[in-house]
Amino acid sequence: MHSESLLKALHTQPDMIYVQGHRGARGVLPENTLESFEYALSLGIQSLELDVLMTQDNVLVATHNSALHPDTTRHLSGEWVNEDAFQIRNLTLQELQDFNVGACRPESSYQRRFKDQQSLNFAAIPALTDVFQLLLLPENKSAWLNVEIKSDPTKFYQTAPVELVVQQLTDAIEAFGLQKRVVVQSFDWNLCLEMQRVAPHIATSYLTSVGPEDEYGNNNIYPDSVWMGPLANAHLHSSLPEVIANAGGKMWAPYFDNLTSEEMTMARQLGLITYAWTVNELDDVDAMIALGVDGIITDYPLMVLEHLRAQGKAAALIA
Ligand code: MG
Repeated sequence: MHSESLLKALHTQPDMIYVQGHRGARGVLPENTLESFEYALSLGIQSLELDVLMTQDNVLVATHNSALHPDTTRHLSGEWVNEDAFQIRNLTLQELQDFNVGACRPESSYQRRFKDQQSLNFAAIPALTDVFQLLLLPENKSAWLNVEIKSDPTKFYQTAPVELVVQQLTDAIEAFGLQKRVVVQSFDWNLCLEMQRVAPHIATSYLTSVGPEDEYGNNNIYPDSVWMGPLANAHLHSSLPEVIANAGGKMWAPYFDNLTSEEMTMARQLGLITYAWTVNELDDVDAMIALGVDGIITDYPLMVLEHLRAQGKAAALIA
């Protein structure tokens, strides 16, 4: 079985664009929770993006940062956690699911950024297989997942080894029969390449953010970048879509503000599917429509979907 049929369907006609819910629908409900994923799927969009890390007992879970986020995580007592107090890799699944990620801390910068996000009384960090279960529901039969593996080669000690994560992920995808309905993406191209080596039948997506190296790991494309693994500096001689397609990537997820029309033309020529992230303003959605991306990754999937529908540009995947 191969993911080719999904990939074929994701090549849009010019001007037709898919919407992908970022961390579920972060603008509306707490990120990377089952509630957020269920809501996003109920909108009639085709795919979700979620972030994945591995626990101490080697369970893949949906959460973004290598440590529990102090602005989104409480103890069951209601007390907010301190920054960097709890590393995901140092907690078992059971310990992790005793934290509440159902709301954001009042007056925090996170809350100011997502002021319309609804609060839940309680939400646990889900296991990746809990999200896979959602895909097996009949009402979600045309949906697919963009699973972003969080791996930082500049801080490799914070996360599980790439080889272990890739093997566990491949086993889980195959156990659920989701080979055609999962794309694996990462800023860490070492992980993309390992995924292609172990499971060449599962499609990979290469994330890019162009800019100088910084301590937060905001960018992964710069001279001598360890994020690019053996492909470091290849972008100095070829365009990013060429580098990714030559490496065996099927999809490309550029930061929307980096993307140029020359790169988009090249991606189309190479058959590389392009999903831009994270597009939360309608002016920027219009810029992506003008560039002709295949998909838009957004915290506000309903808003973007309605904007595309109003112009007759919302692509729909039929199972
Ligand atoms: Mg992500």
